[in-house]
Amino acid sequence: MIEVALEHVTKQFGKVSGVQDVHIRIKPGEFFTFLGPSGCGKTTTLRMIAGFYYPTSGRIVFGNQDVTTVPPHKRNTGMVFQNYALFPHLTVFENVAFGLQVRKRPKDERLQRVERALQQVHLQGYGNRRIDQLSGGQQQRVALARALVIEPNILLLDEPLSNLDAKLREETRLEIKRLQLESGITTIYVTHDQAEAMAMSDRIMVMQGGVVQQVGKPEEIYNRPINRFVASFIGESNLWNGTVERIEGDQVYVRVSPDLVLCGLVNHTAPNCHLTVGAQTTLSIRPEAVREAQSESLQAENTFLAKVVIAEFTGVNVNYLTDVSNKPLKAMFVNQGHQVRQRDDTLAMHIPMESIYFLE
Ligand code: ATP
Repeated sequence: MIEVALEHVTKQFGKVSGVQDVHIRIKPGEFFTFLGPSGCGKTTTLRMIAGFYYPTSGRIVFGNQDVTTVPPHKRNTGMVFQNYALFPHLTVFENVAFGLQVRKRPKDERLQRVERALQQVHLQGYGNRRIDQLSGGQQQRVALARALVIEPNILLLDEPLSNLDAKLREETRLEIKRLQLESGITTIYVTHDQAEAMAMSDRIMVMQGGVVQQVGKPEEIYNRPINRFVASFIGESNLWNGTVERIEGDQVYVRVSPDLVLCGLVNHTAPNCHLTVGAQTTLSIRPEAVREAQSESLQAENTFLAKVVIAEFTGVNVNYLTDVSNKPLKAMFVNQGHQVRQRDDTLAMHIPMESIYFLE
């Protein structure tokens, strides 16, 4: 198990900025994910850790070894690429053995280690198959075995599930997590899929435009997003703008429309958001935090009528897009015990004050 530190790492491609000033410490044995939309700099950061790119400035340190300009084959990292990059004309065995052959390991050892790697990914008995005789999911597992067989200190995975269909993605996601837990290997994972990142990671680094936005555990990032970008990229958020009207003790009252004032908690704010009377703020409200209210409780705080625009029945949930004083509000109710409404029906809604999170 090894620690990976990026110290103020920046990568410029001529005039194009790849990533700027990434400063993180990935703990030994951690499952750490770079998450963000296309072009945010995830792959560039991963490639610098692998050694395919050298940073323009900053340092990369594995354990206590500065590897900033060490070539890839001397870093002892195992990498799985999005397209797997397998050799189609070689067998499964030959593909997996490749790294050991390059390292000139004796034949007996090669046989043993390839066999073990194939077992790890549940492909024992597939050694003689050609790559083009395998399904996408099996090819993915060969790529994983090839990365693991060299017993790397660090496993680097660049969108390894994106070529798989939804069901296989979920299965393989569990498989990768199991392998990582069993081997305890420090793993860095790149994805643009927030659900995948949340499900698999110990910690996530959210990036946008080459800049790190937030680093934290999945629940920290989900429950306490640092800004609008993170709040809307991770899960879904209703983002409503408002003006602080008054503050009473630990409660803050924010006008979000001419006829609606919502009450939240003063300390439920992003670190850079300071609530004072008259200040503008953004309220982040998760759809699953919205509750259905009884119509007789409409006088209560944070309770109001919403008009259904779209109702979506998914089996587990009923998802609504509604209109509240010309503001869109998404709500998600558990199907059980809920009476599904149709377009133009009205629904009484309640937003618990502790589920409003204030952003700058
Ligand atoms: P994707 O999910 O689409 O792979 P990403 O988040 O991995 O995106 P990067 O590939 O790291 O993003 O790209 C970050 C920025 O750096 C982008 O603006 C991209 O155009 C630029 N970039 C990446 N590689 C190069 C390169 N070799 N030459 C020039 N610009 C590059």
